[in-house]
Amino acid sequence: MKFNTALLHGNFSGDETTGATLTPIFQSSAFGQKSAEQIEKIFHNQAPGFAYSRISNPTVAAFESRITYLEEGIGSVATSSGMAAITATFLNILQSGDEIISTSSVFGGTLDLFRDLENFGIKVYFIDSITKENFDMTVTKNIKAVFAETIGNPKLDVTDIRKSAELIHSYNLPFILDNTTATACLVRGINLGADIIINSSSKYINGSSNSISGIITDSGNYKWTADRYPSMKEYVQFGKFAFIAKLRNDTFRNIGCCLSPMNAYFNAIGLETLSLRMERHCQNALRLAEFFENQDGIRAVNYPLLKSSPYSDTAMSQFKGKGGGIFTIRLYTKERAFDFINHLKYAVNITNIGDTKTLVIHPASTIYAHSTQAEQEKAGVYDDLIRVSVGIEDIEDLLEDFGEALKYVNDNHGYRSDEA
Ligand SMILES: *Cc1c(COP(=O)(O)O)cnc(C)c1O
Repeated sequence: MKFNTALLHGNFSGDETTGATLTPIFQSSAFGQKSAEQIEKIFHNQAPGFAYSRISNPTVAAFESRITYLEEGIGSVATSSGMAAITATFLNILQSGDEIISTSSVFGGTLDLFRDLENFGIKVYFIDSITKENFDMTVTKNIKAVFAETIGNPKLDVTDIRKSAELIHSYNLPFILDNTTATACLVRGINLGADIIINSSSKYINGSSNSISGIITDSGNYKWTADRYPSMKEYVQFGKFAFIAKLRNDTFRNIGCCLSPMNAYFNAIGLETLSLRMERHCQNALRLAEFFENQDGIRAVNYPLLKSSPYSDTAMSQFKGKGGGIFTIRLYTKERAFDFINHLKYAVNITNIGDTKTLVIHPASTIYAHSTQAEQEKAGVYDDLIRVSVGIEDIEDLLEDFGEALKYVNDNHGYRSDEA
């Protein structure tokens, strides 16, 4: 089955009892069983079935199994948000005294979570990229996991998943990859060696920004041992299902970060057109990025496929010619950047990515407002930078909209900051 077909049919054949082509919304908190014996079995994972929607729910389960198929994992757990997915993943394996390595260009919310984890005795070391040199300087016996994003945002650095996985595994560590900005549509991380894939399905998977949600998919490939991961003690007996079994029966269930059936349903609708949308997001993003490469009044354009990006070769081969739906531009000054945003007609000024509509934001004054300038620069954020999450509009309209906003800024501020 190829990817478009898999989006529609992978691990999914509609609702068996009614013939509905999407799993209906089982808007039910709990599920009655015929006998005390049956509910006992369900509670002990000895029979399939549902007991309580904080643990599992049929609509949510259908979404989970479809993502498991697409990411080529052995199981998934859907959560109330992408942040909940990341939090539950770490809490599932770590304890006080443990340390993790993360690339420094990760999502702002993830950086904030890392700060929270420090209060629980979990330390995070940041490296600018996953290289042997950086690892040799950082890895201690307390390091228990490595975290990265497929395409960092807004730095737009591309992780070479295969190379990173080889290095991480040579230290016998699990590789946790946030695939939100690429999705399985651009790359199947597990195929290339990632151990656990996280998606904020609030973004491209849902597609029209109608639900917040996240999902964790396990490859089953990492060998968890009780002496390195003491909290896994009761679960190592489940072999390759150890991580997902502990998550479902313990961490995720006890935190209570379950996904609502309604939102799982919206995600299932979005998922079916992921490939069509992604194709257009990527095409439009490349066209716009190329347009800005040749314009006066633009200090820099960043898009993974541009020759000027240090990641163009990795993006080209890893994503098979695609570059994702996000690019950034720098306009010399914050004033020019603000004026540019204010003169866009279609693009919405908003803190989000992965919508069908084109979205823009000035990260320095919003998402990264609480970071120091040094932290901002590490994350690829500058005072004159605008991030664009390109939608699926007609490219002619987007080119006209962005072109006119730039013309307005250049006419009113001069081409460069020193002329402004
Ligand atoms: C948005 C985002 C998250 C967090 O997801 P929420 O659904 O907003 O909690 C995590 N990682 C990346 C890369 C994101 O873009």
